[in-house]
Amino acid sequence: MVAEVPPIRFPVAPGCATVGAIVTAIPGVTPLVAAKGQQVLPSITAQPWGTAYDTPVDLYTLTNANGMMVTITNYGGIIQSIWVPDSFGRLANVVLGFPDLQGYLDHGGAYFGAIIGRYANRIANGAFTLDDVTYHLPINDGPNSLHGGIRGFDKHIWAATEIRDGAVVGLQLSRVSPDGEEGYPGTLAVTVTYTLAADNALTIHYLATTDAPTVINLTNHSYFNLAGEDATTVYDQLLQLNANHVTPIDQHANPTGAIAPVADTPLDFTSPTPLGKNINAGDPQILAGLGIDHNFVLNRPSPDDRSLILAAIAHDPASGRTLWCYTTEPGVQLYLSNFLTGSFTGTSGHAYRQGAAFTLETQHYPDSPNHPNFPSTVLRPGQTYDSTTIFKFTS
Ligand code: BGC
Repeated sequence: MVAEVPPIRFPVAPGCATVGAIVTAIPGVTPLVAAKGQQVLPSITAQPWGTAYDTPVDLYTLTNANGMMVTITNYGGIIQSIWVPDSFGRLANVVLGFPDLQGYLDHGGAYFGAIIGRYANRIANGAFTLDDVTYHLPINDGPNSLHGGIRGFDKHIWAATEIRDGAVVGLQLSRVSPDGEEGYPGTLAVTVTYTLAADNALTIHYLATTDAPTVINLTNHSYFNLAGEDATTVYDQLLQLNANHVTPIDQHANPTGAIAPVADTPLDFTSPTPLGKNINAGDPQILAGLGIDHNFVLNRPSPDDRSLILAAIAHDPASGRTLWCYTTEPGVQLYLSNFLTGSFTGTSGHAYRQGAAFTLETQHYPDSPNHPNFPSTVLRPGQTYDSTTIFKFTS
C-alpha cells in the first residue's frame, strides 16, 4: 500500500521551508549571484514569432533579477528555452527545443516544452467509460491515445496575458476546449500560468473547470539537460525521485494497473543515481519502455494527499546545476528521450538522440480513467482542477 510508505526525507532547495518532505511555503528569497555579476530588473517582453493555423503567434521572454531567462510561446504554451547559471554564473539553455516556430510545427510529435492536455500520457485503446457512457479518442500511439490526441493542447494557440508583480514576472495562458474536442466530453475552460520568481523558480499553475463530467490530466513536457541543450546526453546526470513505487507497463506502454515497489529494480531512484546507469538492463520493464519511460508514484502520506511536495532532484556534477521539482500531482513520468533518433536538429543546430534529455512530467497516472484503483482524473461541473508544479534551479 502506497499510503503506508513514509516519505523520503529529502534535502530542500534554498528558500523552501519544509516539514519533512512536505513543502509548506516557497518564499521568493535567496536570489542567486546575478549572471555577469549584475542584478537586472525583472521583465517580460513579447515578439512576433510567426503564424500557426493562420493565427499570429508570439514569443515571450521572462527575465528575473538574476538574469535567469525563460522564453515561452503561446503556441502550445511551449517553453522554448530556460537559461540558468552554472556554478560560475555562466548561463546555458537547459531544455530541448527549436530555434523557430517552424521546428515545433514540423516535429510536434516530440512535444518539446509543451502544455499537454486534455489527458497527458496514454489512454489504452483510446477509450474510457464515464458515467456509463463510453468515449472514443483518436489513436496516435500504437493502439493508444497519447497526450490529448491528434491536435492536443500543445498544438493550439492560447490567449496570453503578461504578469508583472514586483520581483515576479509571468505569462497567463488560457483557452476554452470545446465539448467533444479530440473526443473528450464537456466544455473545458483552462488557464495555465507560468511565473518566474527571484529565487530561480519557474512555477506552472493549472486551473480548469468544465460544464459536463470529463477527465483531465495536464502536464508540461519540457526535456531537461542540465549541462545545456547542446550537450549530448544526460546519462551522467544524477536523479533522485521521491518515489518508492512505479506503475509497471505492458507491451503497449500502458499501466498494468499494479503499483510495484522500485526497490532492487533498475527503476530505483530513491537515492541520487546516474540517469544512464540502468538503461541497458535486461529487465522486462526497461525492455517494455525501450529504456526508462515510466510513471513513478510519488510518496505521499495518503493517496489523496495533494500538498506541494518535493518530487525530484536532478543534478549535473559537471556544471553544478541542480533542478528541484515540486508538485501537487500524485505521479511523475520520467522519460529519457527514447524516441529521439537524431532525425532532426534542435535549438542550437545539433541532432537530438536517445538520452539527450530527461522529462519530469508531473501528472496523474497514465490511463487512470481505466483503472479505478488509481487516483481519479474525473472533473465534474462545480469542481476546479487545480494543480501546481515548480521547477527551481540552483547552482
Ligand atoms: C511518453 C513517451 C512518448 C513521449 C513523446 C512521453 O510522455 O512517455 O512514451 O514517446 O512522451 O514525446
